[in-house]
Amino acid sequence: MTGRRNRKPSLVTQVAQALHFVDDETGAVVPSIQSAATYARDQNYEPRRPYTYRRDGNPTTEHAEAIIAELEGAKESMLFSSGMSACTAVIEHLPTGAHVVAPKVMYHGVLQQLQKYEANNRISVSSYTSGNLKELEASIRPNKTQLVWVETPNNPNWEVTDIQGASDIVHAAGAKLLSDCTGTPPCMTRALEFGADFSFHSATKYLNGHSDITAGVLSVRDTGQFWEDIFWIRKLQGTVLHANDAWLLIRGMRTLFLRVEKASVNAMTIAKHFQGHKNIETVLYPGLQSNPGHEIAKRQTNGQFGGMMSIIVKGSEQDAIDVARNCQLFYPATSLGGVESLIEHRKTVSGEGFPVHPQLLRLSIGIEDVEDLIDDLQQSLARVFG
Ligand SMILES: *Cc1c(COP(=O)(O)O)cnc(C)c1O
Repeated sequence: MTGRRNRKPSLVTQVAQALHFVDDETGAVVPSIQSAATYARDQNYEPRRPYTYRRDGNPTTEHAEAIIAELEGAKESMLFSSGMSACTAVIEHLPTGAHVVAPKVMYHGVLQQLQKYEANNRISVSSYTSGNLKELEASIRPNKTQLVWVETPNNPNWEVTDIQGASDIVHAAGAKLLSDCTGTPPCMTRALEFGADFSFHSATKYLNGHSDITAGVLSVRDTGQFWEDIFWIRKLQGTVLHANDAWLLIRGMRTLFLRVEKASVNAMTIAKHFQGHKNIETVLYPGLQSNPGHEIAKRQTNGQFGGMMSIIVKGSEQDAIDVARNCQLFYPATSLGGVESLIEHRKTVSGEGFPVHPQLLRLSIGIEDVEDLIDDLQQSLARVFG
C-alpha cells in the first residue's frame, strides 16, 4: 500500500524533478535525447507517434514544453529555436494589414522585426511609452488592433507594466495581449494569470540560465485556430527547438528557482550599494523603493525583483564603454539571465536610431559571490573616473 501525501508537489519540486520524470524502459531519472530527423511508420503505414519528421517536434522538446506549461499555468507551451523565431511566428500568424501596438523602448530585435514587417506593409504599428497604460490605451484602434505587445520589465530601462491593467484595456478593445516577461521568468511572473493571452519568454535567458542554447517559448491559456496556425509556422519554417537544446533546457530549468532567487538577492545588494554612488547618475532597478515601477513589481513578480538592472554612469559615452571594458569579472557581453554576470554598453549593441541613454550599462547579475561583483564594478569605476 502506498502512503497518501497531503499536498500536491509545488512548482519548485515539480521543476527540480522535471515533472518527476522516470523513463518507462530504463528507470532513468533523466530523459534521453531523441535526435532523429525521420521516423519509421508502423505496419499499417501509420506514424507511431505524432512525428514523421524532425520539424514536427520530438519527445525531448515536448517534455521541456510540459515543464514550462506547468510553470506558466498554461494549457500549452510551444518551444522555438530562439526567442526571435517565436516572436516572428506570432507576427506572421497575424493577417495582412493587422494593427499592432508595441512599446517605444523594448528588446531591439523585436522592435526591428515589427519595423521591418511594417516597412513591407505587412502590418501597421503604433507605439506607447512602456508602462504607461493611458498611452497604451490611446494607441489602440478599435476593431483594427489585433495584438498589443507588452514587455515588462522592458529592456534596457526595466520599466514595469501592470499586466492585469493592460489586459483589461486590451480585452475591452477586442484585441489580444502578448506579454514578454523574459526579465522575470515564470517563477516570478505568471503572465497568463494576469490576463495575458500569450506569455512569451526568451528561454535563452533565465529559463535555461547557462548561456549555452538559444530558445524561445510561447504559452497560452486557450488553444484554437490561432495556435494551430502558429504550430504550422513553426513546422514549415523548421524553427522547433532541437532535442539537444531541449535537453539542456530541461537540465537548466531544474535549478531555475535557486538561480533566480540568488540573482535577485545579488542584484538588490548591488543596486542598493551603487545607488547614490558618486560616479553613477541613476540605478534602474524595480527592486529599489524609489523606482516608479516598484509597487506594481511587488504585486507582479512574486516578492523578488530579478537579476536585471541598468546603471547610467556620469561622464561621457566613452566613460561608460570604458567602465564595461575595464571590468574583470563581469563579462563584457550581450544576453542576460545566465549564472555569470554580464555588463553591456547597450547603445553599442542596439545601434543608432534606438532610444537608449548613451551612458547606460546593462547589468545581468549572476549567482557569483556578490562581494566579488561589487569589488569588480568599484575597481572599474575607480579606474575610469579616478
Ligand atoms: C533575448 C530577448 C528576446 C529574443 O530572444 P532570443 O532568444 O535572443 O532570440 C526577446 N525579448 C527579450 C526581452 C529578450 O531579452
